[in-house]
Amino acid sequence: MIIRNRPKPLPLRNLDAAIPRLPPTFPNLPRMQEDVKKQQQGYSGEKKIDYFLDNLAPMYTILHDVYLRENNKNFQIDSLAIANHSIFMIDSKNYNGTISFNTTLRQLTRSDGKLESGFENPITQIKNQKFHLQNWLKERNLGHIPVKCFVAIADPSTVVRVEGSEDEVSQYVVHAAELPERIMNADQQYRNKGARKLPDYQIGKTMLSECGEFDIDIFKKYGMRLANILPGVICPGCGLRGMKRIHSGWWCRKCQQKHYHAHWQALADYLLLVKNTITNKECMWFLGLNKRGTATRILKKSGLTYDDKYRCWYKKK
Ligand SMILES: [Zn+2]
Repeated sequence: MIIRNRPKPLPLRNLDAAIPRLPPTFPNLPRMQEDVKKQQQGYSGEKKIDYFLDNLAPMYTILHDVYLRENNKNFQIDSLAIANHSIFMIDSKNYNGTISFNTTLRQLTRSDGKLESGFENPITQIKNQKFHLQNWLKERNLGHIPVKCFVAIADPSTVVRVEGSEDEVSQYVVHAAELPERIMNADQQYRNKGARKLPDYQIGKTMLSECGEFDIDIFKKYGMRLANILPGVICPGCGLRGMKRIHSGWWCRKCQQKHYHAHWQALADYLLLVKNTITNKECMWFLGLNKRGTATRILKKSGLTYDDKYRCWYKKK
């Protein structure tokens, strides 16, 4: 059973919301656009892994994007499968071209045919995460559970090369499509060695209840101030900011299209970037409305909850 689906990562959601609302001259904008591309690539890689891993859902308990805390440190696991006798952690990697693991130097390089670049060794990374997860389990008297980790390669066309020990790399690195079989076989081996049957669902529920969501303060990271966030409804057709409210819809002066729900995204952007509550006056400013009544109507239909005491709207969790 899948008990936690993969949300779109918060740092990516923040960047997606902020980039179209920054002045084109904002100094860190190119860096943000570059980061959004990388994060999007990582996210689509994770979803490719989910596609294969979710085949195990009828037998095991599966959680995606697990973010836990142990010994005052947070750690993140892309996907986690709690099987019948053991737990599997999966870190997904989405690379184009050829990747080479060097087991002596403990480094990873990637070549796309033109450029070669170095990366932190994902095997070292996942071993560190395994250490955290084992401690987390120990703290809950579950330290006896065997934990195994995999680095899953999302793109089937990625060529994996090894300099050094192939055995060592193949113990951890798998192509996504092979993942279910590798997990089932490993779990069977743990069973043969006498590992106990796990209350997989209960363990999953405990994790879920403690699971947070990884976030980055993009204001701090990119030197943004609230005043840099520009208001206005963005046209879903052409991206123009500043659609005009006209007959219960929104009119774009650039592509001459009408969209009825273009304000939904603007409200979501406001709650994500500016503040987690919105008043009628703030709504008028952010959506570019000149009538109080229109803002009230929009907010009432927005699915947000009204707080009588503070006279503002918020998203109920
Ligand atoms: Zn437009």
